[in-house]
Amino acid sequence: MHFSDLGVAPTILRALEAAGYDTPTGVQAEAIPAAIAGRDLLVSAQTGSGKTAAFLLPALTKLSERSTGKGQGPRVLVLCPTRELAQQVEKNALEYGKDLRWMRTACLVGGASFGYQTRALSRPIDLIVATPGRLMDHMRSGRVDFSRLEMLVLDEADRMLDMGFIEDIETIVKATPESRQTVLFSATLDGTVGRMAEKITREPQRIEIARTETSGGTIEEHLLYADDLNHKHRLLDHILKESGFDQCVIFSATKAYSEELADKLSDQGYSAACLHGDMPQSWRNRTLNDLRRGRIKILVATDVAARGIDVPTITHVVNFDLPKQAEDYVHRIGRTGRAGRDGTAITLAESKEFHKVRRIEQYLKRQITEGVIEGMEPTRRPPKGPRRNGKPGGYGAQGQRRGGSSNGNGYGRDRREGGYGRGTGGSYDKRGPRAAGSSQGQRSTQRAD
Ligand code: AMP
Repeated sequence: MHFSDLGVAPTILRALEAAGYDTPTGVQAEAIPAAIAGRDLLVSAQTGSGKTAAFLLPALTKLSERSTGKGQGPRVLVLCPTRELAQQVEKNALEYGKDLRWMRTACLVGGASFGYQTRALSRPIDLIVATPGRLMDHMRSGRVDFSRLEMLVLDEADRMLDMGFIEDIETIVKATPESRQTVLFSATLDGTVGRMAEKITREPQRIEIARTETSGGTIEEHLLYADDLNHKHRLLDHILKESGFDQCVIFSATKAYSEELADKLSDQGYSAACLHGDMPQSWRNRTLNDLRRGRIKILVATDVAARGIDVPTITHVVNFDLPKQAEDYVHRIGRTGRAGRDGTAITLAESKEFHKVRRIEQYLKRQITEGVIEGMEPTRRPPKGPRRNGKPGGYGAQGQRRGGSSNGNGYGRDRREGGYGRGTGGSYDKRGPRAAGSSQGQRSTQRAD
């Protein structure tokens, strides 16, 4: 199958070819023709599935034809939970729409200058990508004209609701014409998201993509238990020295600690920086650019950064702290293994945090292979429980794996060989657990940022 079979406009096909997209991913194959046909869509798809192009290609196909509507407001509006994600979506739109030379886009996110955004809104505009808060600011000052809006996209709708944007979203939706097409992407379509989706869509087509789809490579996952914070630091030192990483993202639970850890690593001679939600947007942008250009080798980030970073050269992700929400685990590790490359994700957990690990595993519907580093074994073992899987030995006795037992970076080998994986190694296809299905794990609304 090719993108031209899905009805994507010829002017966009050239850009896709240049971007190296040969074949549509599963979510693209299903969502693109339906969206081009004008259907409302409810799509459950994970990051890494190619979901951004799944809504941008129909949107750009619409924009490739002249508007029949009056006014100069946006014809397409994409709402995103975070600034980084919004910027990434606009970047992709400009990449796929590079031959739509007349197309004008704006990215309306907090932390960026109002002046630039206001100027963009004062001229005819085709596509706006926005976070709800900043868009509402512009709407309050009467700067946004939705009279010719054709398509509304809610990207990562579950995340926007978790972040408390429900009222903003309702206000924004009310301000748009009823004739609009609505396309909603979310990890889950149940609960609050489902109820909201029912209100804002008309006879939507539901598309559920099992987590077995991606355009990414294989991510090898490991879990290392530690006794305490000091032990975690020793494990991290070892990982950074021995893993042969090219670029690494380390996730920390708090903003303060992300700064402290980045400073510590800089003092050790690494080119390290931190990224969290309290940093001015210009600084966040600069940091991401430096990461893309390879000037930063280690980025210490909080979860706010987990969804917007699309840097194919990130070879390793280290969860220095466990994520507060189980689903964030998937987003965090998805920062590596991008654009068809392989990656490694190592999660550190204190032994007393075993119940949090279980929660993540319940969400994933699989176990993460537990490993040890020789000479750095934890003195306390987490209790044996449901992880056991009916096999003697319990933890990590049988890791999940797809493809080879190691991606050649020393992880996932048998313990006797000095690697981390105790069993067969834990290679895991980023497409998701083999037992796939659209698992909806336990959720909490706590956020790190
Ligand atoms: P997303 O799920 O939208 O975050 O996309 C994940 C990654 O896959 C991004 O780096 C995209 O540029 C890339 N991608 C999306 N669709 C395709 C495709 N059909 N072929 C190759 N790469 C793709």
